Amino acid sequence: MEVEPFSLPLARPFETASGTIERRRGFLVRVGVDGTAGLGEATPLSGWTESIGDCESALRSVEDPVSALVDGTLSDVPAARHGVSLAVLDAQSRAAGRPLYRFIGGSDPVESVPVNATVGDGSPAETAAAVGRAVRAGFPAVKIKVGVRDLSEDLARIEAVRSDAPAIELRLDANGGWSETTAERALPKLDDLGVSVLEQPLSADSLDAHARLRGRGVDIALDEGLVEHGFGTALGADAADLLVCKPMALGGIDTVRNVVRSARTAGIDAVITTTIDGAVARAGAVHLAASLPKLRPCGLGTGGLLGSDLRAGVAPVAKGSAAVPQGKGNIPPE
Ligand SMILES: [Mg+2]
Repeated sequence: MEVEPFSLPLARPFETASGTIERRRGFLVRVGVDGTAGLGEATPLSGWTESIGDCESALRSVEDPVSALVDGTLSDVPAARHGVSLAVLDAQSRAAGRPLYRFIGGSDPVESVPVNATVGDGSPAETAAAVGRAVRAGFPAVKIKVGVRDLSEDLARIEAVRSDAPAIELRLDANGGWSETTAERALPKLDDLGVSVLEQPLSADSLDAHARLRGRGVDIALDEGLVEHGFGTALGADAADLLVCKPMALGGIDTVRNVVRSARTAGIDAVITTTIDGAVARAGAVHLAASLPKLRPCGLGTGGLLGSDLRAGVAPVAKGSAAVPQGKGNIPPE
């Protein structure tokens, strides 16, 4: 197995809970499985996965990539496991002569998957303008960052958005920034404004409080809480109507496909989102979404956040949909 470091500049600095990032560093993973080459990507993100150093050590210690996926050696390094898993699945689907999404279980041809736009914090006018651009670009749904301002200001932003854009699906992501009291005050107003999803309103540790917020007209989604507690615990706590599944943070597209199918069996829906990954991992996430029937719009339109990419023109987003690569494997070889 070969491990090749890369470092991609972001188009502009990006604020996260663990600080501002200006580059995405990670590793291309190259494997050979029964004589067929496969390519994967491991791009750790501070606060969500192992560190870049732990990711590299784990990747460089892999002797047999196929057995490393099942013997547990990568269970604490989700980005490393993602890279190895994607490389192995790429090789296997290439050998089978099928696009990755069909190889992992997609039963029907799928040309594209719907994606949501993402809108950061801003004034009511700035937020409404950004949502207006998303509507004109054809996005079926938009996810708006909340929780940076007071609740009254956030509500003014959503009112401004809704009066300009009566039809678009609105989801809010508080990234754990609200108290339970704030969320309880917000939910009836968000329901009146037709908000469909409130993502991670409370800190990741409070699964029981998320469970208490359900059933008020707005779906409660877990993102950070799913990564922190794992699927079984989150499901056992009845803490979510919707799971936000990041393949890089959850250990690979194979792992997430199993999570989504189990969740749906239990009546919980899911969306797939990337973590500002490079083109190899983004394409893998698009294949994953294409393999699952009737997903809501997913957070896969993050390629524009990068200033340069591992590969150009892969799974491009247009009119609110990401094109699903139709060649053998994940993406065409260089
Ligand atoms: Mg989120």
